[in-house]
Amino acid sequence: MIGAKHPGGTRVREAGLRQVVRSLVRGLWLLGMMLMGQGALAQAQLEPAASRIRDRGEALEVTLQLSAPVPWRIFTLDAPMRVVFDFGQASLPTAADRRLRQSDRVTALQMGPVQPGWSRLVLELNVPMALESAGMTTASGKGRLVARFAPTSAAAFARGTGAGPDPDWARRRPSQSLGAPEKGGPLRILLDPGHGGIDPGAERDGVVESHLMLIFAQEVRAELVKAGYQVRLTRQDDSFVPLETRVAMAHDLGADLFISLHADALAEGRAWGTTVHTLSRSATDEASRKLAERHDRADLLSGVDLSDSDDVVADVLMDLARMETQPRSEALADAIVAQLRQAGLPLNTRPRRAAGYSVLKAPDIPSVLVETGFLSSPRDRRNLVNPVFRARLAQSLAGAVQAWQSQDAALAGLRRR
Ligand SMILES: [Zn+2]
Repeated sequence: MIGAKHPGGTRVREAGLRQVVRSLVRGLWLLGMMLMGQGALAQAQLEPAASRIRDRGEALEVTLQLSAPVPWRIFTLDAPMRVVFDFGQASLPTAADRRLRQSDRVTALQMGPVQPGWSRLVLELNVPMALESAGMTTASGKGRLVARFAPTSAAAFARGTGAGPDPDWARRRPSQSLGAPEKGGPLRILLDPGHGGIDPGAERDGVVESHLMLIFAQEVRAELVKAGYQVRLTRQDDSFVPLETRVAMAHDLGADLFISLHADALAEGRAWGTTVHTLSRSATDEASRKLAERHDRADLLSGVDLSDSDDVVADVLMDLARMETQPRSEALADAIVAQLRQAGLPLNTRPRRAAGYSVLKAPDIPSVLVETGFLSSPRDRRNLVNPVFRARLAQSLAGAVQAWQSQDAALAGLRRR
């Protein structure tokens, strides 16, 4: 039925100010603004040696020292239970310092840039904890934030969660309109370098997936532009872009194709070679299911609050659109595999896979996710850091788009009949 509302999407989003007041009354998140002295333009750095996350009796104490006092805020998110620390004019390294986490109640820690000028630290908790006190002191030019959390009930924790003064913060999309599509004009392609910012993706031997994929996306863009296509990237730098935002950008741009680029690592097995993934409700294999889950989880752990996300498009409508789009996505994935095979590039023994990737969920835009290789494989890693290898891969991807386009145009003629 047209206009049907997703059952989870009926919650009314509250106005920003009301949410601030509501949250302040509950006292579960805190916002601190420090007056900046001279040199405010420099980014404050986290000083890991003087920072700790540890148990103090019943309480959990988080001490974070920065090289200068900066604005900060703290809030909590549920499902999974997380505490989020945001810092303005500060830079937190994406490679988390292992010494920092000294409490068993903190099961995971992620940090890094999340917005221009803002960095975030996210702690995942295995027990509900409520913020008791927090404050930043300044001594010898440094900013020292001490926050204490006390055990609480799961219900009280859930009641107090929310993304604070600017709930749409992580959702905001950079506007990069391409204007109205010309009839018969060039295809518009949105390239999506995986991960970024607070979510670095896989890391092996000093190779970071998010950095590598940004470089590769720029190389693929150059090849596609050479072939006459209009190309945009979901991110231009090492910034965090939520998965939902990446899909929304494809719509905003009026993209004809969406290609997500990754180089993940597998914990088990010795997989190597390129795999090309399409969306499916049921995963074709366990490894793909885990990859899809891990991407969603990284997004969640980065502190995205989707509790009031309005899923305005009814599932029924999505399914209708997907019926047309799905075969086109699959044809693109097949074209990529064929092109790589032709070029003699290393393909996985099972190169075509499917799983429930959130980033492939645009119902009306053919979308594929290319795992260029696995950073867990020394052979793939060697290949992917080699610009000559990447150039061949980029050329093959551009070739695949061209092959797909002519095939798709022929099929469109049949579809119209
Ligand atoms: Zn990835």
